[in-house]
Amino acid sequence: MIGLSHIVKQFGDNTVLKDVSVEIREGSVTALVGPSGGGKSTLLRCINLLEIPTSGTVRIGDDTLEFRPGHRVATKAIQQLRRQTGMVFQNFQLFPHRTAVENVMEGLVTVLKWPEAKARERAMALLDKVGMAHKVDAWPATLSGGQQQRVAIARALAPSPKVLLCDEPTSALDPELAQEVVDVLGQLAREGTTMVIATHDLRLASKIAHEVLFLEAGSVVEKGPANEVFGNPKHERTRRFIATIT
Ligand code: ADP
Ligand code: MG
Repeated sequence: MIGLSHIVKQFGDNTVLKDVSVEIREGSVTALVGPSGGGKSTLLRCINLLEIPTSGTVRIGDDTLEFRPGHRVATKAIQQLRRQTGMVFQNFQLFPHRTAVENVMEGLVTVLKWPEAKARERAMALLDKVGMAHKVDAWPATLSGGQQQRVAIARALAPSPKVLLCDEPTSALDPELAQEVVDVLGQLAREGTTMVIATHDLRLASKIAHEVLFLEAGSVVEKGPANEVFGNPKHERTRRFIATIT
């Protein structure tokens, strides 16, 4: 359903993704793990085209875009593909001057042109799903980090994306608040939400990921079912990485 083929991403002379290919099954959770600077965030951003790959193919559902140097892909095509994704960031990035429910409604009203009442109804249902029904009218600054991240998850889900992309969703949170977010992501996983989660939190990854992709210095060192990669890593490099954290 989602496929990346032969993705290369260069920033100037620095090649940060070196021929990365990955297939993401509908309803599966894929964790991107590996050392800092390995290219996890860049790979996520190549899925929603916040970064344009230097070369390679990105496919989401029926939309396929091919990138190659010197060839410009139409902005409209990029926007259409991006709209099929939802993104959750490490630092939540809620709109500070909008309440929780307004944050969730925003994209539905301004981008998708939903009528306000319908957008509010969907936003309320999503806030309920992430355990935030009691805080719909709260300002972001009055919410804990875990609560803000749960609102951000509801906002990302509002337009019914084909895939939810999460970049270090628990990294800014104390363990207790991180747990709230892990619980919500785990519930979404059980409901069959397709997710790709970049994380250095191997506990999060081992709890909810079906597939794991270990990325180092822009290359896929190892990929496979989570229980195999975590339980019996094939590569010495993966083994050492897991050992340092657990
Ligand atoms: P990770 O998320 O695994 O820590 P990143 O994808 O953030 O890794 O970074 C991979 C490499 O790409 C790093 O060397 C980083 O400095 C570089 N990089 C990321 N974004 C940019 C950018 N916008 N411009 C230049 N270099 C970048
Ligand atoms: Mg990162």
